[in-house]
Formats: sequence, C-alpha cells, structure tokens
Amino acid sequence: GLHNTGQGGGTADADIDATEAWQVSTGSRDVIVGVVDSGIDYTHPDLAANIWVNPGEIAGNGIDDDGNGFVDDVHGYDFVNDDGDPFDDNGHGTHCAGTIGGVGNNGIGVTGVNWEVSLMGLKFLDAGGSGSTSDAIQAINYATMMRTQYGQNVRVTSNSWGGGGSSNAMRQAIDAGAAADILFVAAAGNDSSDNDAYPQYPASYTSDAVVAVAATDRNDALAGFSNYGVTSVDLAAPGAGIVSTVPGGGYASYSGTSMATPHVAGAAALALAVDPTLSVAALKTALLGTVDGVSSLSGKVLTGGRLNAGTLIASLSSEPTIPSAPGTVSASDGTNLGGIQIAWSSSLFADSYSLYRGESADPAAATILA
Ligand code: CA
Ligand code: CA
Ligand code: CA
Repeated sequence: GLHNTGQGGGTADADIDATEAWQVSTGSRDVIVGVVDSGIDYTHPDLAANIWVNPGEIAGNGIDDDGNGFVDDVHGYDFVNDDGDPFDDNGHGTHCAGTIGGVGNNGIGVTGVNWEVSLMGLKFLDAGGSGSTSDAIQAINYATMMRTQYGQNVRVTSNSWGGGGSSNAMRQAIDAGAAADILFVAAAGNDSSDNDAYPQYPASYTSDAVVAVAATDRNDALAGFSNYGVTSVDLAAPGAGIVSTVPGGGYASYSGTSMATPHVAGAAALALAVDPTLSVAALKTALLGTVDGVSSLSGKVLTGGRLNAGTLIASLSSEPTIPSAPGTVSASDGTNLGGIQIAWSSSLFADSYSLYRGESADPAAATILA
C-alpha cells in the first residue's frame, strides 16, 4: 500500500505515494504517536529504534520516578494488567505500529510510513483482543497527560478498535486530547455497514480531531469488509493484505480498517515532521484535502478519496520541491535518425526539460533547442 507498482495483481499507483513523500521527509523521532491497541513488541528489530522512551522514568525499579501516577512506564503503559510493560500479547498492536513506524532503510523486513518516529505503547486490548471502555479512556488520557504535563510531543493517536457504543467520558477524553492538539485517527469498522446509519465509536464521534478511516484494497476498491459513511467516514487508506511486524520479530499479512488506520496516523506524523506547528484542525484539513479521488469511494466516504501521503507532504512544503538533476544523461550518434540522440532518466517533481545547444560551456552563449 505504500508504493504499488502493480505487483501481485494490484493496480499501479493504487497506493499512498509514500515514495514521493519520502523525497521531502522520512519522519522524525520528535513526533510521538500513541498506539492505543494491544501493546507493541518494543524489542522487534524493525521497531526497537522507533519506540518512545519516557525520559523521566527509570525502568524496572518499582518506583514512579516522574510522578505521573504510573510505575515504570518507560515505553507507555499496560492498562489491562495495570503495569508499566505494554508488551503485545496479541499481535494487532505490533502490526499497526509497524505500519506507522517500521524502521526504514535498515535492510530488513518492512518500512513504515515513517522511517523514524516515536511509538508509544498504550495497551488496553488484552491477549484476546478485547478491552474495556474505561481502560481505553485511561490510555487516551495518558497520552494527553504526557503532552500537557510532561512535555512529550504526542500529536497523534492511532485507534484501530471500536465498539461499546457512545460514551460521554470517552468523548471528553478525545476532546481533551483535541484541545492539546492531538489528532485521533480511528478505524471505521469491519462490518460492511454504513456508519451514517449505524454509528461506530470512537470513529463516529464528531470532532476536529477525529479522522475516521475506511479500507481500500490493492485496486483502490472499497474493501468488502470495510464500513463506510458519506458523512461520518472521512477517507480511506490501504487495508487489505497489509504486511507488517508481529511479536517475536516476525511479519504477517493482516486485513481490516485496523490496518488502514495506521497508514493515516503515520501520514499525519509525517506531516508533523515536515511542519511541527500544524494545529490539529489544520492537520485534519490537510489529510482530507489531499486525497486521491477514487470512483469506488465516491458517495461512500466524505472526501470520496484515498489517503495520498505524497500530495499531503507536498502541500505542506513551504519551499517548492526542487527536482534533482536528470540521471544518466547520454548522447550518441543518431545517424539513423538524422542527428544526435540524447537520452536521460527523468527525476521526481520535474515538469519539463529544456535542451540548449552552444559551441562553448557558457550557457549564456547557447540557444534553446527544445
Ligand atoms: Ca511514571
Ligand atoms: Ca521506575
Ligand atoms: Ca525495515
């Protein structure tokens, strides 16, 4: 889903244009993403370097060193078992984490939307994948607290979960996060149903901070399992057959709006690496305003489109992106064609090329050919 060249029966360019985004930025460890899920295998070789470390906490001494109310919360917290170890005993959270921030360019496994980012493990789903609303609220509030009271730059939470109906307490937790400029990215759900008619929480909370995500497949069709909603679901992202990290150092392919959500959360983090000053409302506007319109999503999601990280990042770059020089320029005898044959490989972001001819190296003495 990051870069679809049509491999494996997919449609070329039915992807989020991550390669184009990476020309500008591959992310920043200054941006913290809270993964509200089943935890993270923070020892995974493709994640370890991108795991958030609480600077005020000493691991394993049984003391709440930073006084935030949580003992030994070095990489986040486990709200299921009420301990400082958010290790993933399910797999779902580690998979989502890899999509947001699988370490890039390290020669192994997968690459996340961000090659560099800081992943905070907020475990509220148990080994069986179930969790309570009260634990979810605690997880959300932890992220907000670490930003507002402990100076940790949590700007996004990724929420690949749902159910339990509408809760005023959860709405308040999300609103408090919004007031602290934390974006809340949420999965639309996997019931093939219309969230406009059957709201799915937390995705269906109305807020400048909530982004609800449907799933597309490798051909940019709305995935058969995916919920939708032309007013209540904002955009789609790849969510079918997504390969990412799983506990124990492995990799696996999962499908669901759970897999689409971290693509959007990851793109949001990438945007914040480029422009850390973006407000939560501006970030949501940028995400929604830069989708690729896709016919299968027209009338199904608010924007009618699928995430495009390349367009998103380009929209935030204050400087125009300067194309690199064309590669491998060659000139050869084009006798058969009646002249000289000049060839080069194109570079990203170049709109056109100009050819000059002259008798010296002085470009001012040259005349334009084409
Ligand atoms: Ca603590
Ligand atoms: Ca401690
Ligand atoms: Ca990797």
